[in-house]
Amino acid sequence: MQDYHIHTLFSADSTLSMEEACRHAVKLELNEIAFTDHMDLGDNTEGYCLKIRDIKQYLHTINTMQDHYGHLLSIRKGIEIGLQPHVIKDAEKMICEYSFDFIIASVHLVNGMDPYLGEYYQGMTKEQSYRSYYEEILRLIKKYDSYSVLGHLDYIKRYSPFAYEEGDHLLGLDVVQEILKTLIIKGKGIEVNTSGYQHSSECPMPHPSIIRMYKELGGEIITIGSDAHSLKHIGHQTAQAIELIKGAGFSYLTAFDAGYPRFIKIK
Ligand SMILES: [Zn+2]
Ligand SMILES: [Zn+2]
Repeated sequence: MQDYHIHTLFSADSTLSMEEACRHAVKLELNEIAFTDHMDLGDNTEGYCLKIRDIKQYLHTINTMQDHYGHLLSIRKGIEIGLQPHVIKDAEKMICEYSFDFIIASVHLVNGMDPYLGEYYQGMTKEQSYRSYYEEILRLIKKYDSYSVLGHLDYIKRYSPFAYEEGDHLLGLDVVQEILKTLIIKGKGIEVNTSGYQHSSECPMPHPSIIRMYKELGGEIITIGSDAHSLKHIGHQTAQAIELIKGAGFSYLTAFDAGYPRFIKIK
């Protein structure tokens, strides 16, 4: 049982302490967690870009957690990098400078606009809004390589003002297929982000059929993360996600040490 996507008070949108998170993970009998606080590089003028202010302190606190809870729980040094075209070089530099076990690459902004906010959708149909988000991911992952897995692939559905419908996972599917092929060629994985279970789609991000497509195309690297920003969401629906992954044909979950994948047999 792993939770490879946890935010703490090092992210401006969370108040969870690492200590509380570790204690709770032990209580839930998770084997392994990764702290993955936000690092959205770029300007912060509009307040969209969340970032760890003191990265040395962040890593130091994870070391302390490893000292205190390491005998009960594996704790990984992770980060969630927010990709945008103009931050790629800075992101690579930052990753080189510090040693992380696990890196989630996520796209939170398209053309500087956050799909969390309404302006992104102006003048677009639902299909265009999905397609434009996926096209941005594809452009970015063709250029950027310093990460372990792509975060919440169909994140666009999370805040969309368009009502969620059954067939929405088919929107822009040709671009999604290209994204998956690019990830596979580059030896990168996807995460199953269980925060999606709280959304009206009632399924993780990405949609189960996209997870199956990744497997069918030859993908092997898959992690599970809750994207918890508070205690109650740690380990959320992990057991359900494991069943889903198994059903999609995976025999192994992936964990990461110093950026290298380690495969864990699913029982
Ligand atoms: Zn994210
Ligand atoms: Zn996150």
